[in-house]
Amino acid sequence: MTKHRNDWEQYFQSLTLEGRAFIDGAYRWAASGETFDSISPVDGRFLAKVASTDEADADAAVLAARRAFESGTWRLLAPAARKRVLVRFADLILEHQEELALLETLDMGKPIGDSMAIDVPATANAIRWSAEAIDKLYDEVAPTPHDQLGLITREPCGVVAAIVPWNFPMIMASWKFAPALAAGNSFILKPSEKSPLTAIRLAQLALEAGIPPGVFNVLPGYGHTVGKALALHNDVDVLAFTGSTGVAKQLLVYSGQSNMKRVWLEAGGKSPNVVFADAPDLRAAAEAAAAGIAFNQGEVCVAGSRLLVQRSIREPFIALLVEALQAWKPGHPLDPATKVGAVVDQRQLDNVLRYIEIGKEQGAQLLVGGQRTLQDTGGQYVEPTLFDGVTNAMTIAREEIFGPVLSLISFDTEEEALSIANDSIFGLAAAVWTADLSRAHRFARGLRAGSVWVNQYDGGDMTAPFGGFKQSGNGRDKSLHAFDKYTELKATWIKL
Ligand code: NAD
Repeated sequence: MTKHRNDWEQYFQSLTLEGRAFIDGAYRWAASGETFDSISPVDGRFLAKVASTDEADADAAVLAARRAFESGTWRLLAPAARKRVLVRFADLILEHQEELALLETLDMGKPIGDSMAIDVPATANAIRWSAEAIDKLYDEVAPTPHDQLGLITREPCGVVAAIVPWNFPMIMASWKFAPALAAGNSFILKPSEKSPLTAIRLAQLALEAGIPPGVFNVLPGYGHTVGKALALHNDVDVLAFTGSTGVAKQLLVYSGQSNMKRVWLEAGGKSPNVVFADAPDLRAAAEAAAAGIAFNQGEVCVAGSRLLVQRSIREPFIALLVEALQAWKPGHPLDPATKVGAVVDQRQLDNVLRYIEIGKEQGAQLLVGGQRTLQDTGGQYVEPTLFDGVTNAMTIAREEIFGPVLSLISFDTEEEALSIANDSIFGLAAAVWTADLSRAHRFARGLRAGSVWVNQYDGGDMTAPFGGFKQSGNGRDKSLHAFDKYTELKATWIKL
């Protein structure tokens, strides 16, 4: 039965929120005793005091993770045994679906319907998928001369630290800890300071599922304190990151300044969504373009924030798009009908509003939205916004806004569209809409992006790799390719 806003509020009253770090199988406050307040963007309510961990806690977590790794309590389990534990972890997540969904929504503002239908199930699915894969991966035997046996084996790397963002807190974390744990590593998760609550809760469920103490640790806190400490730590083997390109670049420096830990980066995007006049279904394209910028308040790394429309269909397409955007109105995130929730915090809201001002100043025409809304809630909300007359040189077409602000750029030819689409420092995702099969393939091939969609936007599941070209990052989450990040390849030569 669908819970209504009052039911969720009542349920919230019954919960005791945990804000402590999780190290070596137990919750504890930061060694310094420092805390920060978790405040909900939904209505400004206080949620919990959260441990503000720093270098000392990073040291403790890395020590526990290293000890667990060396002891072999997890690493030396048969892959099928690790699988069983992780599948139990996935099951427990689904058993706690409502609790986790509510925490995610209150902590970062997304609609409860999305937390229930997407965030919790996708997290459980990422864990289950990686777990199910791990006892089906074989190593290799090299095609050696007759008197040699060359074994090519994969080994877990050791201690993996992950630093993740707040837009899909659980999903982004699971894309990293699922393959890393399945492969036998120890793991330290640093959630965003803006959305730590579900990560903290997951730690208890991991322990309950049977993941041994020290193998899964959670360090809430700020980037410049505990995030930096993990990135500079000499006993962290792998650093997996999802977040902005600016911080990603800094992490590469930290790696070079410390132990050359492997650094895997899933960074920002400014994805082009290209609609040709021969798109098979213009209404579907317009609806996908609206969803591609308004879903999750536009706080999506693959948001289709640059909409390229062939000039000959501009007028009818814009009419359909304006209509489609009407379906994306901000509302209370605990109302099950809401499709657009709250922006994560005041700073992010100010950022989005600043870009809207820049768009106007640089001569783009505001067609839809552009305003802060629902102020009486005490939360932060902004209307999905559409700018027409954007050129690819404008700031709103070049920089990642990470909010629901769509820039419509017109083009005439296929060549021009491809050149605009690729004219970005980012290369995370792109889409093309056309009924011409040859053009679809040609254009998809020409796009410099890690994910390309044809006649759809934002498709995909655990079976395909996800990640970026150019300054959108390196390495891939999801699919069997994700295991490349969390395993070292070893060649063993045996003289026969
Ligand atoms: P952010 O880069 O500000 O923060 C991400 C994480 O890094 C947070 O946990 C933060 O505390 C930490 N951090 C910040 N400074 C640090 C430092 N100096 N050292 C170590 N850690 C530090 O990003 P955000 O605002 O949380 O998230 C939005 C960004 O994430 C956008 O750029 C978005 O495109 C990107 N993102 C990318 C993907 C992807 O898969 N490519 C997915 C989701 C989000």
